[in-house]
Amino acid sequence: MNIQWYPGHMTRAKRSMQEDVRAVDLIIEIVDARAPLATRNPDIEALGQGKFRIILLNKADLAEEPVSYEWVKYFKAAGYDCFFMDGRSKKNLKRLMVLIERVCAEKRERDKKRGILNRPLRAMVAGVPNVGKSTLINTIAGKSTAKTGNKPGVTKGNQWIRLNKSVELLDTPGILWPKFEDQRIGEIIAFLGSVNEMIVDPVELAVTLIGFLRAAGKTEGLNERCECTDDMTPAEVLDHLALRRGCLQAGGEPDPEKAAAILMNEYRSGRFGQISLEEPPKTAGSAPEDRKTKAENKSENRAEKTEGPETEEQK
Ligand code: GDP
Repeated sequence: MNIQWYPGHMTRAKRSMQEDVRAVDLIIEIVDARAPLATRNPDIEALGQGKFRIILLNKADLAEEPVSYEWVKYFKAAGYDCFFMDGRSKKNLKRLMVLIERVCAEKRERDKKRGILNRPLRAMVAGVPNVGKSTLINTIAGKSTAKTGNKPGVTKGNQWIRLNKSVELLDTPGILWPKFEDQRIGEIIAFLGSVNEMIVDPVELAVTLIGFLRAAGKTEGLNERCECTDDMTPAEVLDHLALRRGCLQAGGEPDPEKAAAILMNEYRSGRFGQISLEEPPKTAGSAPEDRKTKAENKSENRAEKTEGPETEEQK
């Protein structure tokens, strides 16, 4: 399927982010843990020049945990501070604070030498649509809703959320667009809901997703949930689902469009299980067969307390 999308407001959003970024020390880049490369924006490198950077692999509750660990390793090897998380949960906030302080230690040092004490670090959350930027900001703001006033150089109306004495967060996320380098990327971001639904034919998208999951050998959850099998054609899967869920057109025929919408919804909300759509590019030592078991990863994570992701089981 061919996905091309250049929203008219893209240039405006990019310009406003270019302005806002001047006022921050740190960019918290959010990507979807299920497809961290497809959901990155190529402009962020240029926009983030001279800024401290953290990459958060969000929606990790919907991704395969061992694959997310590989992604953390991949981004760390590329020089980024990084962890994976569920942006709806408050329990990662402390970890985020620790990371912010660590990433910005150099700035603190610089300030100290200049005799500047207690100047808060300023951060912004940025990423492509639907990766969970607003959710993270709300999770943070729910904890501390103290907002400070406008600051010069920041898009009018933007507010700062004070996280603690030493960190402030811009309450407006920086919206960027994913790259459409190739079809595979276009498809993945459409699966994840990061492209405008208006430009994607729902049946074609669902059919493509079924094909994608089959090629990856990840249809267990789909088959269970939709009561279908791998030998049914994707069109048959949609018809079957439509009949099971009572999505009928006038005349009693199954309605594939409604079934497709249900299928995409269920996939996106994790009803087919935790499914990663991308794995890190294979480099020495990071091939999937070298991947550590969950137990090995956990023990490594315990040793590296502030760096690894915090999972529910580790509390
Ligand atoms: P934004 O466009 O980047 O601001 O994305 P939103 O914050 O609006 O989130 C998009 C959708 O993803 C919403 O339905 C959120 O509830 C959901 N969401 C955000 N973070 C997570 C997460 O970590 N896990 C899960 N399962 N859903 C999330």
